[in-house]
Amino acid sequence: MPDHLSGLALVTGANRGIGFETARQLASAGVQVLLAGRDREAVTAAADELRADGLAVDPLVLDVTDPESIRAAASEVDGNHGRLDILVNNAGIRIEEYGKQPSEQPMRQWRETFDTNLFGVVEVTTAFLPLLGRSTAGRIVNVSSLLGSLATHSDPKSYAHSPMFKSLPAYSASKSAVNSWTVHLAYELRGTPIKVNAVHPGYTRTGMNDGAGDLDVADGARTSVAMALLGSDGPTGTYTHSGATVPW
Ligand code: NAP
Repeated sequence: MPDHLSGLALVTGANRGIGFETARQLASAGVQVLLAGRDREAVTAAADELRADGLAVDPLVLDVTDPESIRAAASEVDGNHGRLDILVNNAGIRIEEYGKQPSEQPMRQWRETFDTNLFGVVEVTTAFLPLLGRSTAGRIVNVSSLLGSLATHSDPKSYAHSPMFKSLPAYSASKSAVNSWTVHLAYELRGTPIKVNAVHPGYTRTGMNDGAGDLDVADGARTSVAMALLGSDGPTGTYTHSGATVPW
């Protein structure tokens, strides 16, 4: 059994979608969960829903693009708990419109996408790293995407080799960058108990895809949960979906 099943997890962007389900599944496994999101009302309502099922979940206001919000959240967790065992960097946006050529997407969307999907991940992680360092089994899960896989994008037989999935260049590049960050941080933390892994949830029916996708949201959360609950013999610096390696 993983060392931290009685531990403390923080899931960003957990008021809905895959993050909410990740929070539910971690709490159902016995982990205490901080359900984080940028909107106080939304995180409170989401946490209340899981608490009504008897799960140990607390809301936490955290906007991953706001340095002050990140600092305040880290300070609140430090004050209340003094450590963190699991960080799931799940919050993400996909604001590009399908159907445009890669070169036609506006710069504003590139910047906004990278602010949330990459800089948000890096800034939240570095803010919580001292707390994760106090855990005996720290786990960081970076929610990437198959669209971050350059190997997949370059394979003419892949479903990413289509006008639809080639029209999200900022989203895809932001997830490639998350993969790179994952490898760098795993290298920095080698030799410590902290494991850092990137995951592809699967093409999941959430608000991000306007309800389209192959997986329901419970299945879409499973890879994040599995990597959050890795035992001490588990890997670090990987990129997986459902136990299988995704090519970088
Ligand atoms: P979703 O339903 O659109 O939910 C996204 C979540 O991120 C929401 O809780 C949203 O909060 C939150 N968020 C956005 N910006 C934020 C910010 N600045 N600070 C804090 N929270 C913020 O998306 P999803 O499908 O569950 O996606 C979850 C993750 O999986 C994302 O990283 C996504 O890229 C990745 N992913 C999804 C799929 C898929 O098929 N669905 C596939 C591959 C990867 P608000 O409610 O406040 O907007």
